[in-house]
Amino acid sequence: CGIVGYIGMRDAQDVLLSGLAKLEYRGYDSAGVAVRGVEQIEVRKKAGKLANLQGELSGAPLPGTLGIGHTRWATHGLPNDTNAHPHATEDGRLVIIHNGIIENYLSLKAGLRERGHVFRSETDSEVLAHLIEEKYDLTGGDLYESVRLALGEVRGAYGIVVTHVDHREIVAARTVSPLVMGVGEGEMFLASDVPALLPYTRRMVFLHDGDMVVLHDDGFRVTDLQGNTLTRSIDTIEWDA
Ligand code: GLU
Repeated sequence: CGIVGYIGMRDAQDVLLSGLAKLEYRGYDSAGVAVRGVEQIEVRKKAGKLANLQGELSGAPLPGTLGIGHTRWATHGLPNDTNAHPHATEDGRLVIIHNGIIENYLSLKAGLRERGHVFRSETDSEVLAHLIEEKYDLTGGDLYESVRLALGEVRGAYGIVVTHVDHREIVAARTVSPLVMGVGEGEMFLASDVPALLPYTRRMVFLHDGDMVVLHDDGFRVTDLQGNTLTRSIDTIEWDA
């Protein structure tokens, strides 16, 4: 339901939690974050209010300056800790968050299971983690290309954000579900809605249907799902949330 992503110099956990709080109005049943550390990506997720997650993190904060966060409104699978996002691969090296519904998840899941993937959650979203992992191996570790190839096999609505322990970047894409990018100085943001980003930047790029984007600390690249580079204008938001 609500998505926040951050790459830059700030404490990622702070940006994610403050952004998710600004998206609470959208409604949700669970919340989670993933922060990229030196050797691994740490995931924390909790059913219930954002305060539950905040409580857990306040005792043991996750250090790092790249992260993704989610407030889930369950469509497939009960609202519990396991089904909350982010979802990681079995080795924990690749982590995804997904808004929306993957319509063909049952057939994708059956194929992935046959090829040895073990699923932890009951969500439609988890197929994305495993599918992207397969493409990641196929492309020799090209995160953008692996997300692009995986999305070619997916039917449905999605706002998706992906990160991998071996890459200091966030790859995102949207079809139907909204996604806006915030452009800072030496930092970049993503969110499903503007208010999450207004405390940090007023310069925003509204991603179009079918856009993919790669975020680095100092810039971004937008493409279509075929891999062609696109030009997207940066708008300045004049209003306050
Ligand atoms: N369909 C996904 C799930 O049930 C994502 C729901 C959402 O958009 O929050 O986990």
